[in-house]
Amino acid sequence: MKISEILANNKITVSFEMFPPKQWDKIEKTKETVHTMAAQKPSFISVTYGAAGTRTGFTSEIANEIKKCGETPLYHLTCLTSTKEKIDSVLSSLQQDGIENVLALRGDIPENFNFPDKQYFHHAYELVKVIKQHGDFCVGAACYPEVHPESKSAHDDLLRLKEKTDCGVDFLTTQMFFDNDVFFDFKERCKLIGIKAPIIAGIMPITNASQINRSIQLSGCRFPKKFSAIIERFGDNAQSMKQAGVIYALEQIVDLIANGQNNIHIYTMNKGDVAAAIMKGLSDIINE
Ligand code: FAD
Repeated sequence: MKISEILANNKITVSFEMFPPKQWDKIEKTKETVHTMAAQKPSFISVTYGAAGTRTGFTSEIANEIKKCGETPLYHLTCLTSTKEKIDSVLSSLQQDGIENVLALRGDIPENFNFPDKQYFHHAYELVKVIKQHGDFCVGAACYPEVHPESKSAHDDLLRLKEKTDCGVDFLTTQMFFDNDVFFDFKERCKLIGIKAPIIAGIMPITNASQINRSIQLSGCRFPKKFSAIIERFGDNAQSMKQAGVIYALEQIVDLIANGQNNIHIYTMNKGDVAAAIMKGLSDIINE
């Protein structure tokens, strides 16, 4: 099923993100995690692409497993280090596998990366165009409520986002954020500039203290004071921190839904128990 159809029915949607393993010998374990995730009946499950376009086969393997479980996969695809031929070949195999949803991403710029003269892709909007030309895919793209770290300014980032969505983006998924006001402000600015694609709010349950530095490093997002207090108080106790992280994420989600944001994406970090706790916490809300 296309994600645009899932989002069109105005119901609350909760989707999950997973990542493939780094080594092939862990693939069966990750497939087991797919089954645990699928049992929670999310609206769809996205599967990330290795940094710098590595481990393409692993992403396909996991996306196909999601499909075998009867769930809708969203295939992340990065383009920065790929040629157009490579992208075309990935898209053709997705068509063969019946995978119809792709999240079109540029990918992070690897250290010491020189753009080759013939490099086809510099930005995600170019990939969006290629995917749309290739076939009947539902195409998502990334957006950044706290501004992409490379952007000149918040306004420039928004203009670029508008250009990207105008290339045929069917939906947007946000980078993680921990302060809902940041998201609501971003959503309003998107509306004012004329971005019409539905925006899915990305929520990362922080369930251990070591995740925090990595999350800040990756996303540049800010932690509100009340979240810092949680880390300070529970960071040294793994079980308490996990519970507090899930409760914080649930509070964020309930506030988002209460304020009209129906589409939520959970960065699960492949933790089936965390995904299950979130779904349990929302069971009546989702089915209302
Ligand atoms: P772009 O849309 O190209 O934007 C990148 C920067 O370029 C922004 O600052 C933008 O303002 C600017 N820009 C855009 N167009 C232009 C233009 N025409 N001229 C000048 N500047 C421009 N990474 C992975 O490796 N694998 C994954 O699976 C993955 N999944 C992700 C999922 C989500 C929901 C998100 C939010 C991020 C994900 N990432 C992933 C990380 C992503 O690849 C990086 O954040 C990357 O640095 C930017 O990708 P983008 O698609 O947003 O790029």
